[in-house]
Amino acid sequence: MAQAKLTIDLDALRSNWRALDARSEGETAAVVKADGYGLGAPRVARALARAGARRFFVALAEEGAALREALGPGPEICVFSGHMPGDTDMINDLSLVPMINNIDQMLRHVEALPGAPFGIQLDTGMNRLGMEPAEWAALRDIALAQNPVLVMSHLACADDAAHPMNARQLQAFREMTDGIDVPRSLAATGGIHLGPDYHFDLTRPGVGLYGGLPFVDATPVVTLEVPVIQVRELEPGETVGYGNSFTASRPSRIATISAGYGDGILRGMGPRASLMAGETRCPVAGRISMDLIGVDVTDAPELPDRLELLGQHQSIDTLAGWADTIGYEILTSLGARLSRVYRGE
Ligand SMILES: *Cc1c(COP(=O)(O)O)cnc(C)c1O
Repeated sequence: MAQAKLTIDLDALRSNWRALDARSEGETAAVVKADGYGLGAPRVARALARAGARRFFVALAEEGAALREALGPGPEICVFSGHMPGDTDMINDLSLVPMINNIDQMLRHVEALPGAPFGIQLDTGMNRLGMEPAEWAALRDIALAQNPVLVMSHLACADDAAHPMNARQLQAFREMTDGIDVPRSLAATGGIHLGPDYHFDLTRPGVGLYGGLPFVDATPVVTLEVPVIQVRELEPGETVGYGNSFTASRPSRIATISAGYGDGILRGMGPRASLMAGETRCPVAGRISMDLIGVDVTDAPELPDRLELLGQHQSIDTLAGWADTIGYEILTSLGARLSRVYRGE
């Protein structure tokens, strides 16, 4: 079998949720947008529900609808994009809770679904989603009279604990919400690490659950193993792959493995990337192509039948460093062609 195998350790996922829950004041939710950060929202969310998560966040109502099917009735499913035109039936039929972002969404929600639960998203400086202070001041009394279940905002710089934006947003959030009798939420994974001042009633971790920074103590959740299809011996001076970008400088052994950028293994990682043959680090040789990667396994003590790209030796953040990106993009790029195997429950 040539298909590369992505193993998702649900026990590690649940232990990350428990660790973040232990650090959070109040309740801990789980963010499972973008198909559970690429790992399969149904399995991920069911495992987190077993760990004790009772509230889940997604980006779109469509994601919420799919998640309701996986979770059944009971857990609360909140939608960051709020109540968009066309969402009303999904919100109603599948009991989704939109995070209302502006007055238009507010009117749409209370007119179409009077009495249906909703939350409110406030903009404390990120300028992405939510009501700005002036809009909130004008709408606040009317909105509060409709009994929102949550008031939330999102931090722009929480991955950098020393950034002055954190305290500015905390201050803005307090000014907009102090004294109201509604549960409040400000912190994602980064915000949890900023300390209890940032936690309020509910935290909303995503990436930390999946083993990524800024949760430094996270347990790795994903392993990616790629089968070797063919191995060849090179004389010094011979080249590998498109554009001849690797030239053997010594007698070399090159393994051709069965995955590439078509599986979300970012081509931009380029020659910085390596894979593990047991304990031996084996550098990528030549360009990452769509379905294949050449790997220099000359130093491996025996011929490997598979190589590990993600696992105990190198994390999603290691790969992110090679590609000048973040662990989030490594995870959500992992393609549909990989076989997803779940370990634990
Ligand atoms: C994605 C997202 C989260 C989760 O963020 P992480 O950094 O992955 O923990 C929380 N809240 C909002 C509004 C988000 O968009």
